[in-house]
Amino acid sequence: MFSTLIEFRSYGQQAVEAAKYIGQGSAVTLDHLNRSPVTVQYPYEKILPSERFRGRIHFEFDKCIACEVCVRVCPVNLPVVDWILIKDIKKKRLRSYSIDFGVCIFCGNCVEYCPTNCLSMTEEYELSSYDRHELNQDQTALGRLPLSISQEVSIQVLSISLNFLSESQKVWG
Ligand code: SF4
Ligand code: SF4
Repeated sequence: MFSTLIEFRSYGQQAVEAAKYIGQGSAVTLDHLNRSPVTVQYPYEKILPSERFRGRIHFEFDKCIACEVCVRVCPVNLPVVDWILIKDIKKKRLRSYSIDFGVCIFCGNCVEYCPTNCLSMTEEYELSSYDRHELNQDQTALGRLPLSISQEVSIQVLSISLNFLSESQKVWG
């Protein structure tokens, strides 16, 4: 009789514990129901990149003085600067310039150190290609004006980077 009572008491304690855990789980579920979704339906929706986003590099041929500072500060010696020396005026003349975005790590060093500001980072991040050779862009491709996501009429632009961050912080603590 005494042992049965102890068993009942133990069952009761376990039932209370189980109910407590179910209650805690349900509270977490209900808390998540109040949150807006953080999933972006790419490519129909896109998040507006932040102001200092490091995307495709834009290059202005006319401003370049072929000093090769960008090559020296690049961790992978990436930009290819082809120039000739004009002996009469003792000046370099740029012939071609290219960056291979298949190798670039978008660190922004070249942009930071270029003395004539002919390099800049755009907000373009959709650079994928079926042919990796297409990622090697010459001065013509690099000189293309950047496309802004906000100009794409068929796409819903989400200016939710800050909300997204705060929601993520809620999720990950
Ligand atoms: S640092 Fe600037 S100016 Fe010098 S070669 Fe590179 S892109 Fe041209
Ligand atoms: S962004 Fe960095 S890795 Fe890419 S070319 Fe410039 S310095 Fe090199």
